[in-house]
Amino acid sequence: MLIKSKTTSNTYALFLISVSFSLFGCEPPPANQPSKFVAKNASANKSLSKNANSKSANANVAENISNSQIESADKSLPDTKFNDAAAQNARLKLNLQWTFGGKTQTGWYIYENLISHLIETEAKAESREFAEALARWQKTAVLAPNGILDETTLIAIVDNWQAHRLKIRGFASSDELTTAPPTDFYNPERLEELRRVERNTYAAYKKMVAAATADKSLNLATDGRGNLASSEQFLKIISPFRSKEYQQKLRRESPNSGRAGLAVNSSPHFTGRALDIYVGGEPAETKDSNRALQVETPVYKWLVKNAGKFGFKPYFYEPWHWEYAPD
Ligand SMILES: [Zn+2]
Repeated sequence: MLIKSKTTSNTYALFLISVSFSLFGCEPPPANQPSKFVAKNASANKSLSKNANSKSANANVAENISNSQIESADKSLPDTKFNDAAAQNARLKLNLQWTFGGKTQTGWYIYENLISHLIETEAKAESREFAEALARWQKTAVLAPNGILDETTLIAIVDNWQAHRLKIRGFASSDELTTAPPTDFYNPERLEELRRVERNTYAAYKKMVAAATADKSLNLATDGRGNLASSEQFLKIISPFRSKEYQQKLRRESPNSGRAGLAVNSSPHFTGRALDIYVGGEPAETKDSNRALQVETPVYKWLVKNAGKFGFKPYFYEPWHWEYAPD
């Protein structure tokens, strides 16, 4: 069930509507930011090597990427168009300067798994094959099919992801909610009132967890009945439904942190259909080094490929935040 590109005016209008309510799932950059993102020219970036070397996950991304390697490897190929695109993508992946929610972003390496899933390729972003897959996607998105993941294409990709998120933002009524047991939670001591989930979302979550535990490559500790063992942290729920009162409490507790941007009047968590799920690292921390680590975990990569089968759509910026929005 791969997400196909839709850049019709209807979808775009929906996106424009939804973005003003749902730019951020849980941990946005500070408040008062405009609800749109604007890409800037990559040439201004001088901080690439510092960012790329700050954490091992980033260093992994950066290592072995050498333009001369890419160019020499591809010299024998007849068509140079996508070889050049591959070389550009190797650079843009790490240093494209763009803005999301008023905050400058560097590169798109954190989103490589999601991008590959969208454009239907297993190839690495530095490869000619990736550029060719991207060009096919660009055609469906009515973009110039040059295979280069520049600011225009990145914004079209982000638009596509955002357009597939929850469209509703209202509070779940109590009869729409069920209370999940403590064993489903990253913090098993979480209070009962903070363990509520919209019923269909919870059923879909349990099916997804059963499928993940059946996938032996993930090595998840289970109870033998499709549930995660108490010792397992991956895929446990960090935060499900939030009442308005609870959201206000979070906001009061962290008035000056990133959580200051917690939406008070609109959060996908109000619907009971948004789940923060443990995917590694610090559970819900937006700094790049943490997100770069999270997107490298087998569990996150599994979610990117499989969550859609269970109706869950990603919020690209927060690897832990998934919304139940079946097609
Ligand atoms: Zn969330």
